[in-house]
Amino acid sequence: MVRTRFAPSPTGFLHIGGARTALFSWAFARHHKGQFVLRIEDTDLARSTPEAVQAILDGMNWLGLAHDEGPFYQTQRMDRYKAVIQQMLEAGTAYPCYTTPAELDAMRAEQTARGDKPRYDGRWRPEQGKTLPPVPVGASPVIRFRNPTDGVVAWDDLVKGRIEISNTEMDDLIIARADGTPTYNFCVVVDDWDMGITQVIRGDDHVNNTPRQINILKALGAPVPEYAHLSMILGDDGQKLSKRHGAVSVMQYDDEGYLPEAVINYLARLGWSHGDDEVFSREQFVEWFDLNHITPSAAQFNTQKLNWLNAHYIKQADNNRLAADVRRRLVLRQVQDSGSPTVEAIVALYKDRAQTLVELTDAVEQLQGHPQPSDELKAQHLTETSRPILASFRSALATVAWDIPSISAALKATLAAHAAKMPALAMPVRLALAGQTQTPSVDALIALFSREEVLKRIDTLLGTVA
Ligand code: GLU
Repeated sequence: MVRTRFAPSPTGFLHIGGARTALFSWAFARHHKGQFVLRIEDTDLARSTPEAVQAILDGMNWLGLAHDEGPFYQTQRMDRYKAVIQQMLEAGTAYPCYTTPAELDAMRAEQTARGDKPRYDGRWRPEQGKTLPPVPVGASPVIRFRNPTDGVVAWDDLVKGRIEISNTEMDDLIIARADGTPTYNFCVVVDDWDMGITQVIRGDDHVNNTPRQINILKALGAPVPEYAHLSMILGDDGQKLSKRHGAVSVMQYDDEGYLPEAVINYLARLGWSHGDDEVFSREQFVEWFDLNHITPSAAQFNTQKLNWLNAHYIKQADNNRLAADVRRRLVLRQVQDSGSPTVEAIVALYKDRAQTLVELTDAVEQLQGHPQPSDELKAQHLTETSRPILASFRSALATVAWDIPSISAALKATLAAHAAKMPALAMPVRLALAGQTQTPSVDALIALFSREEVLKRIDTLLGTVA
């Protein structure tokens, strides 16, 4: 039974790198009909906040990454960690260490002066035939893990390949502080063990923790999971992804008008591939996903590609769904939905050209709001020549049957009568109806509105001085 987990630290929003880790862990579990566990690593009390927990839950919910178990909170598992530490003390795989901070500083200074790597020298580590220093009265010890001193820790990373670390490289890790609280690497180990995790899929910023975690797991007699360390995500410019690159929080993609399925499809391809396939559904992704096709090199973000995918999914999306989303955005903008033209009709006409839901919302706001074109646009398109053409088209519209083919025929007839070309009429009509020249085809644009509204808007434009 495959069991994966996503284990975010709730110190901020769910960023795009975390979302990809969550997606891969989720997809791996789904692919193998296993379980996906959500664990909140909130032991850093100073940096963890309930708002950040909520932001993570919101982000995962928006992406549709449902967990099967959890969320488990590390802060609620303290008794369990302490019990395991007690067991280890009894088994001799951990020991109390009374070295003071001042002694540690001195140790480090000495080692550095010698040109050695600073490390705990094991002075409180019990060894056969070794006499330990006298326990200082009233002092509370930290607890250290008794790391093996010889051999190597090795694992076949599912992304990076075989990794081997010599045990002589590692000193005895502190697993509990002097106040008794367990440390980060230790909690992860107990959790992965208790939660029966079979594949640990996480960012490669944790790759240095893995040998320590494996050693502790082995000391506990716990099964060692497989590890897959995902390379990091770089921004469009090849630099480490940061706030400066714009949206890094998943929910910001929602704000900016991306559909969750576009973000999922995009994230899926960020470091993973299935041949040349670029566009695929969540279901298809789950069916295809494996850990063998993850690139060990860093993945570079490509906003253009995300926009392209988003445009694709907007085109495919149901009009009512798009309309509901646009209405939500209108409320946030404190713009009233006048219903004329209806959001559904505008969305149906504009979805083929919109890259984001924000653009669709702009179109609705624009068409319903009847904005006036700029003087510059009027001067350019409402000329001596185009005015009479627009005026006679207006007359034709007063009686034409109100459907796209009839409106289109009236357009052509008007142009023919004036021996004019399409832009001479289409541009002023666009200005009249939308206040700008960038719109879908003009006959469809006209048909969005009622006849009365179109005549009124053309009259308004004709009545103004160019
Ligand atoms: N809490 C860690 C983080 O947010 C993840 C630890 C892990 O996946 O083992 O980076």
